[in-house]
Amino acid sequence: MILRLIGLWSDSSGTEWPQPADHVDPGWDTSERKLVGDYLTYAYMTGVGAIPPVPCTICGTLLNRGASLTDGAYAWNSDLAHYITEHSVRLPQEFTNHIHATVDAVRDPTWWKTAYTVARRDDMLRSDPTHPRVLHEIGQWADSEHPGFPSPRCQNPGWDELDKECLTEYLQTCFVTEVTSDGTGTCQLCGQLVERSHIRTDGVFAWRSDLPHYVAEHDINLPQPIIDRMNETIDAQIDWDWWKTVYATNQ
Ligand SMILES: [Zn+2]
Ligand SMILES: [Zn+2]
Repeated sequence: MILRLIGLWSDSSGTEWPQPADHVDPGWDTSERKLVGDYLTYAYMTGVGAIPPVPCTICGTLLNRGASLTDGAYAWNSDLAHYITEHSVRLPQEFTNHIHATVDAVRDPTWWKTAYTVARRDDMLRSDPTHPRVLHEIGQWADSEHPGFPSPRCQNPGWDELDKECLTEYLQTCFVTEVTSDGTGTCQLCGQLVERSHIRTDGVFAWRSDLPHYVAEHDINLPQPIIDRMNETIDAQIDWDWWKTVYATNQ
């Protein structure tokens, strides 16, 4: 997997990267601007480096850029959201379209129904990851209203503690694409009330916020394609070149 790096800006020392001041759009629709700012802020963190804060190239505020964030298609550092929320810097239209495609995608539970029994890599993982239209909804367990769904079982009680932590964190930090009125639900295994009103997505799969409880508390392993998607995101290579010319070629 290759992630497109975005959000590196030129400073006085070089002109290799775009200049944010060239892309300020004070008239940008505020709801779209908020969506992009949130998308960049609440994303999966692949790493935290000991990088000293850097000044914003527009206002000089010191920004923390030590965290590497990704959505499984693009990668950026934690200082990028500031340019959008504080200075209305527009990112390339292709990226904005990608966010809309993710947020507006249809969620389909068909894949999940047989995901434990049909242990193979689905075709959807070979489709263009930058333009998902259908998100595979995962984590619905069988109950009276949902016959035909998997039952939560202790799929992997002996699995590596680090793998479990890694998957739990992934499920807890990917982008929130929707907040529903679901509130809390009862865990089918321990009876505890678990918050389930957020829907998160990694651009391929979508799940409610009670799913990490099953992984963390009950050792429920998820079907391999979901683990593969996470690992590919973590191990992805970075494309440094797209960002250098994207503004020039799209204008
Ligand atoms: Zn600034
Ligand atoms: Zn439980």
